[in-house]
Amino acid sequence: MLGLVKLPQVFTINQVPKVFHEDSIHSGYRHPRSSATDCILSLFQLTNETLNIWTHFLPTWYFLWEVVAVVLVQTAWHDSFIWPLVIFLTTCCIYPLASSCAHTFSSMSARARHICFFFDYAALSFYSLGSAIVYSAYVFPDKWANGLFHQCYVPIAVLNTVICTGMACYSRLGLPFLHYNHDVVQRFSENQNPKFGKYLRVVAFAYPYFFDHIPLFYRVFMCEGEGCTDNDTNMLHITHITLALLTGFLFATHLPERLAPGSFDYIGHSHQLFHVCGILGTHFQMKAVKQDMVTRRPWLLAHSVPITFSNSVGAALLCVVVNVTILTLFSLPLLSAPNCEGKKHDKGAKKASSRACVCS
Ligand SMILES: [Zn+2]
Repeated sequence: MLGLVKLPQVFTINQVPKVFHEDSIHSGYRHPRSSATDCILSLFQLTNETLNIWTHFLPTWYFLWEVVAVVLVQTAWHDSFIWPLVIFLTTCCIYPLASSCAHTFSSMSARARHICFFFDYAALSFYSLGSAIVYSAYVFPDKWANGLFHQCYVPIAVLNTVICTGMACYSRLGLPFLHYNHDVVQRFSENQNPKFGKYLRVVAFAYPYFFDHIPLFYRVFMCEGEGCTDNDTNMLHITHITLALLTGFLFATHLPERLAPGSFDYIGHSHQLFHVCGILGTHFQMKAVKQDMVTRRPWLLAHSVPITFSNSVGAALLCVVVNVTILTLFSLPLLSAPNCEGKKHDKGAKKASSRACVCS
């Protein structure tokens, strides 16, 4: 039966347009005009994206199982104290799902690739808000509970998602309507300035991460004396922080493939390790917040900021609306741009187009 299905051909870096190139990855590229069916079939053949897809697709189901268990077992709709956990777990399902879809369909065209990763960035941004909501509810140290910073924390985190998504999308092609044209797109395109785009994306995701973790860093590393919430959960938080830093390191450095270009094209390159460390980090983060939620519940209910619709579900819904608006703004010019890709490339060499068109 499997013999009847012809798996798509894979290509080397010199056979695909520059926009598809990955740093220090020389082979295993899919056709740059793959059909949706070919993209799905590529899940079952070894390309340089296969493990990127599976390392986020499988964990999606793990986190989905977690959220369903919380909703059904703890009957979350009756207990507003659990809403932040449900929101956080939902964001933990959405970001790996968006990522695995982005990696699956990113080889359909250059435009599809940009739009796919816009969604990926927005999902990561939403996950950072989920982290902020759950930290505000269960993780803030006793000393800071209900203080001015605590009261402003979730609204600032919502604002950060706008900055994060906007900056990450900007890093690919510049500003929609202003920079997406044949003349100036070169200045912003990844084709022309990959380093600038990469730096901008690192900042776009590091900034909300560090903001969200201010209360946790203070609690775990700096606080002394009374009110520091120095409990058993801190070890889980430290494990998560260590994995998160490793995740950022892998994303920024492209190790190990940078040390031996072409040797990790299919298995073991930094993006796969980045996915695995990120998911492990999220797993420990989930364990930690759940433990804080259970052990600190009586104290938090008596002393902390009350959990309301506006600082939990409302903030998440606002984030979704704003991020969908940003995605639409960045994606519309790509969808309405003239199709300069034309006919499907030949099966052999697919030289990078030198045209400065968004869909080159
Ligand atoms: Zn990825």
